Amino acid sequence: VPRPATPVTATAPAPPPPVILSDAAVQVQLCAGQRSVRVVATDSLVVHTESGERVLAAGTWLFAPAQVTPARQRWHVLTKTFQPGEGTAATEYVAGRRAEGLSAELLTTGKRSQTTAGRQIDNRLYWVSLGQYPSLNAAQAFGKQLEKAGEWTFIRAETVAPGQGSLTVSDAAGKAVAQCPLPLRLESVQPLEMDGVENGFWQNRSTAGRFSGAIDLRIGADGLLEVVEQIALENYLAGVLPAEMPVDWPMEALQAQAVAARSEVLASLAGKHGLEGFDFCATEHCRAYVGHGGRAPRTDAALVATAGQALLCGGKFVPAVFSATCGGWTEHNENVWSAPPDAALRGRPDMASASGASRSPMADPEGWVQRPPEAFCAADDRYFRWERRMTQRELSEAVNKRYSVGTVQTVECGERGVSGRLKWVRVVGSTGSERISKELPIRFGFGGLPSAMFIIQKQMGKDGAPVFVFSGAGRGHGVGLCQYGARGMALAGYDHTAILHHYYPGAEVETLE
Ligand SMILES: [Zn+2]
Ligand SMILES: [Zn+2]
Repeated sequence: VPRPATPVTATAPAPPPPVILSDAAVQVQLCAGQRSVRVVATDSLVVHTESGERVLAAGTWLFAPAQVTPARQRWHVLTKTFQPGEGTAATEYVAGRRAEGLSAELLTTGKRSQTTAGRQIDNRLYWVSLGQYPSLNAAQAFGKQLEKAGEWTFIRAETVAPGQGSLTVSDAAGKAVAQCPLPLRLESVQPLEMDGVENGFWQNRSTAGRFSGAIDLRIGADGLLEVVEQIALENYLAGVLPAEMPVDWPMEALQAQAVAARSEVLASLAGKHGLEGFDFCATEHCRAYVGHGGRAPRTDAALVATAGQALLCGGKFVPAVFSATCGGWTEHNENVWSAPPDAALRGRPDMASASGASRSPMADPEGWVQRPPEAFCAADDRYFRWERRMTQRELSEAVNKRYSVGTVQTVECGERGVSGRLKWVRVVGSTGSERISKELPIRFGFGGLPSAMFIIQKQMGKDGAPVFVFSGAGRGHGVGLCQYGARGMALAGYDHTAILHHYYPGAEVETLE
């Protein structure tokens, strides 16, 4: 239910000071919802609190909530974004929605950065919040109401007051040695080892890791512990790259990946989780992060060799996404995600000569799958071309996990993007039919296909029941850098700058520092 407008003028928030790129740092949420956190220090462990610092000896220490008040959150129903240059339009829009009786607010995500030479790069985004609720359920109910009226909505949490109270510190034998008031920060000259780091998004896995940044222990909205690492940008990237590309791949491919990752991180600082009080989580939701313990010499070297380099387009850092194998042609960003077209993320043929460009995976998907081009990523012998055979029963089981259509009779392929990836499919079953839109839902809908670039043939099985044969190209969304293609280009003698210009055709590789 819309709440009455609050009597506050709808002005754009004052811009916070820019991030100075040479000392950019990142806040990574390593885990949350923990009843306790075990920290192993190989050197002295310094516990900073507002009342001073306490030095604990090297060893194992356990931190657990003692008396705490949970953090307070509110849930926004967001509907629309404006660029930094559109402040006036944003303000007018918010005022208009308030006149309708909605408690509209303008929020800012993203950050402004500045080089030592004074150049500014603005990756902020204004979000219009049409309602603020104390619970997720209430926000979802309001969101549904707006969607019925034809408005696009998006729900996001904001932490409005941090958790308070104190933590009990115990030694390895479980004996309490101190009570420390929040906020609390741990530091040591050696990396700290910690349990319960969530590094799986698709699979729920949780492992121990070693971390070199300062560690903040916080209390979340659930009253449980949240661990946030404060770490310099380059050290963060060093813990990200080994999770993105095999560390034994050619150096120019690793360097291209390093510049892409740096640009993507800078483009999305304070983005997805900015309102929750940190930049990124440690899972594939943001990007997998393996910490100090997962660093590798060759990815470290790729970062050093490309220090200060980033991809820019239109005065902004490029959200330089990547995927494993494009299949011979990369895809436009708007065909995969709900977002406006990005000039840096245009799909294109993934090959040296323009000869392949005379073919079109969009117009002739059968020919594209069955007569593969000589693409840079052709060496991916598992996924450059792939096939999945499913009996009618197997396919029906996979589809009905998400869509109740009964026994699958046919799958109709809809429109395709430039890479041949399907924008939608229609599944017709014995009891109903469903249109599935967008790359990830299509892949998941058929039990987890490598990509949405496929054709389907219905054959007759030995038992007389149909078999559906999915023949496809590539693995992943296909937008931006093709990793197998970058490897192929590096092996063919291209340097990392040429690789980046190939995959981000509208962007420039610039040395900022
Ligand atoms: Zn995340
Ligand atoms: Zn490719």
